[in-house]
Amino acid sequence: MNSFADLELHPTLLRAVEAAGYGEPTPIQMRAIPAALAGRDLIASANTGTGKTAAFVLPALQRLKTPRAENTWGPRILVLSPTRELASQILEAVRKYSKFDRVSTGVILGGMPYREQLRMLQRRVDLVVATPGRLIDHLERGRVDLSAVELLVLDEADRMLDMGFIDPVVQIAAACPESRQTLLFTATMDDAMSRLAGRLLRQPERIDVAGKSISHDAIDQRLLRADNLDHKHRLLDHLVSEDGAGKTIVFAATKRDADRLADELNAKGHSVGALHGDMKQAQRNRAIEALRRGRIRLLIATDVAARGIDVADITHVINFDLPKVAEDYVHRIGRTGRAGASGIAYSMYTGSDWKQVKAIERFIGRSLTAHIIPGLEPSDRPRRPRPQGFADKPRHAGRAHSERPHSERGQRDGGFAAPRRPRAPTGSRPFSSAS
Ligand code: ADP
Ligand code: MG
Repeated sequence: MNSFADLELHPTLLRAVEAAGYGEPTPIQMRAIPAALAGRDLIASANTGTGKTAAFVLPALQRLKTPRAENTWGPRILVLSPTRELASQILEAVRKYSKFDRVSTGVILGGMPYREQLRMLQRRVDLVVATPGRLIDHLERGRVDLSAVELLVLDEADRMLDMGFIDPVVQIAAACPESRQTLLFTATMDDAMSRLAGRLLRQPERIDVAGKSISHDAIDQRLLRADNLDHKHRLLDHLVSEDGAGKTIVFAATKRDADRLADELNAKGHSVGALHGDMKQAQRNRAIEALRRGRIRLLIATDVAARGIDVADITHVINFDLPKVAEDYVHRIGRTGRAGASGIAYSMYTGSDWKQVKAIERFIGRSLTAHIIPGLEPSDRPRRPRPQGFADKPRHAGRAHSERPHSERGQRDGGFAAPRRPRAPTGSRPFSSAS
């Protein structure tokens, strides 16, 4: 038994999952969804990219199929998320999975105008996604009523702890009815997490899925070293024309790069579309739909725009430029290898990108496989890892670099960065896995 249909989800939710292009539930979904539907409290730990969002959003939506308690007004489902960014992603998932349902949603996030939030709090709302800081604000001013909360979800609870949200979270939980159900999701488990769980959950079922993220299993992750930008273009040319290359997403660093690559590939006779933040939502949807239906085979995308791509049969993801944030790497390559199919992810890098390669490898917990394409070998000798502290050197993808000697691992003031400039403190590394 490992299909969504076996999970006793409502038909509208099954349709939505199918429309999202998911073949079968991930291990965490397989275990968490039935337990959540049975009304149990859960503490679930699983790696990033293993599909935790659907593991709580689907049971939450199923709960909304029952009528709300009489004379209640406030949210029935409350999802706490550490950051605005993650909260928006959750909301996007809610929209995706409630595609065939009518669900009223709201967000309470720091940095949003109060007026808008207050308006939202005045009407009836089924599901609210909030960051703890701002929600506590409203709670303390008596502006939010959590007495109708049936299900409380703490997503990325480890990050909420790291960010010092423990008190707000406990306070928010205390404002919800005691009879509520609570689901806690985390990527890591430690004592602090166990203590928090002990305070907020009732006889929780513990689910610990050690498995690799969706992206890690079925995807062949290859690393391609390029001498310079021109070399990258030649590699791209080869990859998109390769035997077996079906639907392919190419990631570019900027909107302009995406447009330019799309033009270039178009001129070479490929059926190609672009997808980036300058396009209106309707245009973006059209581009994704064109790929889904096979009217185009190549889609050139930026990270921002790519979040909405759910196309089932993507064979290749090509990172023409590496992502600026290691976590985005997982999101990018997760576009392929769906539904048990295999996929290939190529990542191109030039000498100056090595730090990003390392950050990605640290984030995913394994190294990428160096790959050589006969006839398109890199000409110069690959640079070996250099020590930490790379933040102070700007990245110029494609710029020819000089191969200077570098100091060995562990020596902190490596010879690459301008020696006069101070090293950025660890917390502000522009490319850190804890983005
Ligand atoms: P997590 O919260 O564990 O880091 P997400 O919920 O963000 O992971 O899911 C990661 C990616 O996997 C998303 O792009 C999501 O659409 C996709 N996904 C989730 N469930 C499935 C599934 N059953 N099959 C295929 N892809 C899935
Ligand atoms: Mg998540």
